[in-house]
Amino acid sequence: MQYETVIGLEVHVELSTASKIFCSCETTFGGDPNTHCCPVCTGLPGALPVLNEQVVDYAIRTCLATNCTITPLTRFDRKNYFYPDLPKAYQISQLHQPIGRNGFLDITTESGSKRIEIHEIHMEEDAGKLIHDPWEDCTLVDYNRCGVPLLEIVSEPDLRSAEEALAYLEKLRSILQFLGVSDCRMEQGSLRADVNVSVRPVGSPVFGTRTEMKNMNSFKAIGRAIVAEAKRQIDLIEDGKTIRQETRRWDENKDSSFAMRSKEDAMDYRYFPDPDLVAINITPEWIERVKANLHELPESRRARYLSDYQISAYEADVLTTNPAIANLFEQTVALSGKAKDAASWMLGEFMLACKDNECEPQDLYMPAQSLATLITRVSEGVINRNTAKKIFAAILDSQVEPNDYIKKNGLRMVSNPDALKDTIAKILTANPQSVSDFKAGKTQAKGFLVGQVMKAMQGKADPQLLNQLLQEALEA
Ligand SMILES: [Zn+2]
Repeated sequence: MQYETVIGLEVHVELSTASKIFCSCETTFGGDPNTHCCPVCTGLPGALPVLNEQVVDYAIRTCLATNCTITPLTRFDRKNYFYPDLPKAYQISQLHQPIGRNGFLDITTESGSKRIEIHEIHMEEDAGKLIHDPWEDCTLVDYNRCGVPLLEIVSEPDLRSAEEALAYLEKLRSILQFLGVSDCRMEQGSLRADVNVSVRPVGSPVFGTRTEMKNMNSFKAIGRAIVAEAKRQIDLIEDGKTIRQETRRWDENKDSSFAMRSKEDAMDYRYFPDPDLVAINITPEWIERVKANLHELPESRRARYLSDYQISAYEADVLTTNPAIANLFEQTVALSGKAKDAASWMLGEFMLACKDNECEPQDLYMPAQSLATLITRVSEGVINRNTAKKIFAAILDSQVEPNDYIKKNGLRMVSNPDALKDTIAKILTANPQSVSDFKAGKTQAKGFLVGQVMKAMQGKADPQLLNQLLQEALEA
């Protein structure tokens, strides 16, 4: 029997507003435990919530960018459950009139492009954090995160593989970052997903029983969890067993999931409209105002890069995965006039530095002016590409200014033919074997000699001139 995997994603994204959704406490990540709190976000009796208008603005932006229909009269509901990270014993969320419905995103995978429907987007508040202390055998609670604004973006179960799920998540993350509504730092929990997985025989019109893996904050883990969970469910079916509807926790170290609890239905939460908050009337004028200030989205930037600069589709894809990358690229092109070189530096050294430092592009120190200067000096022949790479690293590490750095360290390329000829002559005398190898037709011997001359000149020889003069000397 052939099976297909059915996946739906509930993505939680923390909005990057300065203050929380219903009070004026700050939303900054971290801080000493319980220092970003007040009576409202810790649910003290008598405290009343006041809605942060910026949250609604960000939600409207997100709805527009994901093709959702915006609900004209949206309102908040209470979702009741008891858990120590939720001091009010209810979460203010949206069930009956979520702000957005019926949207979609188009994703592209190896098998082509596909439309993924978005069921709804709703606004809600985040809960606090429990910290388990095995040393003291107790659990501590930090309410700093309580009341940080969240959007929950719920897809339809349209995804059919881990590859599609990851393409959808990457697309969504890049849109949210370009919109400026969230930094989407997964390691800080700003973007996390509940992953619903079921399997069914190919061609079956009914869905199988689904399980949910909550709060996953790494794309790699999500991909592996989907594959493993689908396999677990298929094995159960093949063994004639039944799949229980339940919440499971993915253990990245064990590469497997285990059952946590049977899944609640909406009824268990006893939702009802929050009596402390009035309904919000989202007028067409409000939507127009947000639309007029909407940041340019990755797809439009990609199209612009392809038409304005002579770069490849692949380069345009990578450059538009993140606004920090796209902005640095655009500013560097504006300053240097060299799009092809700027793209090559961004895809090469810059992306490599992000990977090596395990950081987000916006965390790297690389002013567009410095990168543009490097590109210009290379094209003028003042420094060669290898030296430029070393300066690039020095900019990242010690925030140096490239022109100063070239001067201070004497990095200007030697393009004086006489100085080069002297060194070449010395190297040829010192390596007679390589010279005779070259003359016997072993052309790779030349590469070795180029390396020796470059080394003797401390990497500062003009490579083109060096090649030309060495060839002449060998043929002489
Ligand atoms: Zn507060």
